[in-house]
Amino acid sequence: MRSARAALKGRVSLVPTMGALHAGHMSLVRLARAQSDNVVASLFVNPTQFGPNEDFALYPRPRGRDLQMFRDAGVDVVYAPLASEVYPPGDSTRVDPGEMGAILEGAHRPGHFAGVATVVTKLFVLVRPDVAVFGEKDAQQVRVIKRVTRDLMHGVEIAVAPTVREADGLALSSRNVLLKPEDRAAAPAIYQSLRAAMDAWQKGERRGPAISNAVRTVLSGVPQAEVEYVSAADPETLAEVGLTSGPVLVSLAVRFGSVRLIDNVTLTT
Ligand code: AMP
Repeated sequence: MRSARAALKGRVSLVPTMGALHAGHMSLVRLARAQSDNVVASLFVNPTQFGPNEDFALYPRPRGRDLQMFRDAGVDVVYAPLASEVYPPGDSTRVDPGEMGAILEGAHRPGHFAGVATVVTKLFVLVRPDVAVFGEKDAQQVRVIKRVTRDLMHGVEIAVAPTVREADGLALSSRNVLLKPEDRAAAPAIYQSLRAAMDAWQKGERRGPAISNAVRTVLSGVPQAEVEYVSAADPETLAEVGLTSGPVLVSLAVRFGSVRLIDNVTLTT
């Protein structure tokens, strides 16, 4: 990777992914392409961002298809390391993003954002991109990475791409293929619940807890949906909001069986 990087002339962008690529990832590649002369994409299911009881082993890995999709999209370099290359024996250094990584997703997935911050730091050091592209689908991840980038003085510009959805509103995710058919049929309720927050906001609701309740009400009508959290937070600090003039980041995590899905929308005036 280092020598491939050294051969690249001009601006370099990086698109980190865990593979099992879909149109959301491809939109990141397009944004990267538009901002740089060279696009580097990584394909790596990062073990340190998975908890012991999470789906690391089950995470889909259609490697040949992923490589073809990156090739078709004109990606210049694909970095697809082994775990033992990123974490060689004796590797012990971790990047702890602090409080911002401990709330919301971090509260339900202890250590998750330290794993994310660590692998992104390794990728930034190795690839030395001018710009790195992430999806708003993982809203907290974007905030954590912006913080880490600033705090560790990586000098990498962070670009954010909007969430790509199915026609029925379900946010594209590599985990969607793991849903049982009946759960896939019920999963659009996630976006419907976020629409309820948008509707409430449009009708003048400005109380964070009431906005969260509008989301919960929709999901409580879906027997398969097990809500982990619903949050109405300041999009910068991720602190829960009370009465607010906005903007508000409404985010949630919901389980359908063993599959955990996240989504979010931002409410603005
Ligand atoms: P992942 O492979 O799931 O780690 O995701 C790699 C990148 O793609 C992350 O920056 C995600 O936020 C982004 N991403 C995942 N799903 C979507 C989506 N539906 N729309 C836009 N970006 C996405």
